[in-house]
Amino acid sequence: MKIICIGRNYVDHAHELNNPVPKSPLIFMKPSTAMLMDGKPFYHPEFSQNIHHEIELVLKIRKNGKHIHPKFASDYYDEIGLGIDFTARDIQDQLKEKGQPWEMAKAFDHSAVVGGFVPKPQLGDVTNLEFSLLKNDVEVQRGNSRDLIFSFDYLVEYISKFFTLQIGDLIYTGTPAGVGPVKQGDKLVGLIGELPLLECEIK
Ligand code: MG
Repeated sequence: MKIICIGRNYVDHAHELNNPVPKSPLIFMKPSTAMLMDGKPFYHPEFSQNIHHEIELVLKIRKNGKHIHPKFASDYYDEIGLGIDFTARDIQDQLKEKGQPWEMAKAFDHSAVVGGFVPKPQLGDVTNLEFSLLKNDVEVQRGNSRDLIFSFDYLVEYISKFFTLQIGDLIYTGTPAGVGPVKQGDKLVGLIGELPLLECEIK
């Protein structure tokens, strides 16, 4: 399986890091070894002094597809959940400055926290999904899928032009504003609406 991530898919987050708002989806990937599941703790790596949380809505791909027609895109994901795209912001800043790829900052072990998933019918209108992240019981990020620059369906269509989507692939659809550092002892909880779907302690 693969993890496909979208960068700068909310205007407020693009602005908070002084990045331009993209005209087409900004795509990067994480390997399967980046996954951290089942509420396991995240061990803060030594190579970074500035690991940031990025809470994101995550699509779980349910069937294989390439060149997916927009009309059928929504049929390719039947569950939506939450993930954290952990980012070594200090390393990313260095890589961006040099114009180099982001993998060292984005694709390291356990950089993709995966929480629980909910079948779409239980979520109601998926184009209006409110989600949030609490750090030590204080809300630090809040977003809504209606504010996505590139919608879920457009992402599925667009990504599938370049990469065959396969059963079990995950699409991290981008983070809203409020990203910030984590430190040892922090407890992160992600929610869709009022429903807690993700927990991660930093060790
Ligand atoms: Mg992200």
